[in-house]
Amino acid sequence: MNALHVEVAILGGGLVGASAALALRRAGVATALIERGQCGARASGVNFGGVRRQGRSPEQLHLAQRAHGIWARLPEIIGTDGEYVRSGHLKLARSQADLEKLAAYRDKVRDFDLGLEIIDGASLRRRFPALGSDIAGGSLCPEDGQANPRLVAPAFARAAAHAGAHVLENCAIQHADTQGGDFLLSAADGRRIRSEILINAAGAWGAAVAAWFSDHLPLQVKYPTMLVTEPLTPQIGVSLGVEGGGFYARQVARGNVVMGGGYGVALPGDRSRPGRAALSELGRTAPAVLPALACASVIRCWSGIEGYFADKNPVIGFSRNVPRLLHAFGFSGGGFQIAPAVGEALADMVTGRGGLAMAERFCPGRWG
Ligand SMILES: Cc1cc2nc3c(=O)[nH]c(=O)nc-3n(C[C@H](O)[C@H](O)[C@H](O)COP(=O)(O)OP(=O)(O)OC[C@H]3O[C@@H](n4cnc5c(N)ncnc54)[C@H](O)[C@@H]3O)c2cc1C
Repeated sequence: MNALHVEVAILGGGLVGASAALALRRAGVATALIERGQCGARASGVNFGGVRRQGRSPEQLHLAQRAHGIWARLPEIIGTDGEYVRSGHLKLARSQADLEKLAAYRDKVRDFDLGLEIIDGASLRRRFPALGSDIAGGSLCPEDGQANPRLVAPAFARAAAHAGAHVLENCAIQHADTQGGDFLLSAADGRRIRSEILINAAGAWGAAVAAWFSDHLPLQVKYPTMLVTEPLTPQIGVSLGVEGGGFYARQVARGNVVMGGGYGVALPGDRSRPGRAALSELGRTAPAVLPALACASVIRCWSGIEGYFADKNPVIGFSRNVPRLLHAFGFSGGGFQIAPAVGEALADMVTGRGGLAMAERFCPGRWG
């Protein structure tokens, strides 16, 4: 079988790979987007749907701000709004000390113009009466929001195909190597793809792909646990998080409350399931934050597979060992919001049109 020959092969059809494919096609680059299942069916399609800048480190905020502009233009870029709404993101403080941490964060990221508003406990209960009484206050980012993850990455992949990318689904790459200055990717079904540049956007499997090229990166795999309730009367319009982590929730237009916290466990065959301890912790925390949840029925729970680095930053950068191998994975639980900007940044790096702000914080060589 003849190999498909492109300038750039992207291994992984999640939101990172799909948005990179679209950005590369818009720059006129011959591109193949390769996915072993269906595009957007893994972390990118099963996540919480939080489109949040608040809480990110300054180095990620450069990308998050770029992404913020892209999210607002989704209908024009991918033909759907992905149910994206700028609902606001409210980060709750369970103690006065946590409220002070939220105020310190607001001061630290003032230059990014997030419009963060610190709200004390009494004002918070007046403005958001559905919240529980033990909350000490919160920080509101009025222009952060939420979207439906099931819609967004597949739409990026469709838009990339429409723009001329070769989108190869059900194409599990078993091995990739360099050959005569090119990359040669071999799929389980015998398909082969030859490229001048390879982008490793394989998400939680990114370290395994990197290891094919002797790039050994300290990725840890975890399985965030999620659940969703039956539809409830309107409780809260903003997306919720908690300082220190462990709980997040949002109510969709139909009334269901989607929430998450804690981690699940791996199952054979690259699958996972929610963790028992995480589910019972959610059962305790949720009614304390939103008392209406005490009587709500849970209709579904699930988990996704995500790669984490200890510093919570992904790797986005060229390999030190192999020329023209570009890694972009390990988004550490926060890739949904920034992925559309990462895709554009990857296209800039490939075409030499630009780099990445604070690139040293993302570089694959940062562990020495
Ligand atoms: C439950 C959960 C909740 C989350 N909540 C949020 C949130 O609210 N907000 C936020 O910003 N982020 C959130 N995240 C994180 C976010 O979903 C991820 O960081 C982001 O989707 C990562 O995108 P990706 O394209 O790197 O990875 P993925 O979506 O995992 O895509 C990688 C793709 O590579 C493919 N692949 C791997 N190996 C091969 C191979 N050998 N051959 C072919 N294809 C291969 C996989 O099949 C997969 O589809 C959450 C994650 C999870 C799991």
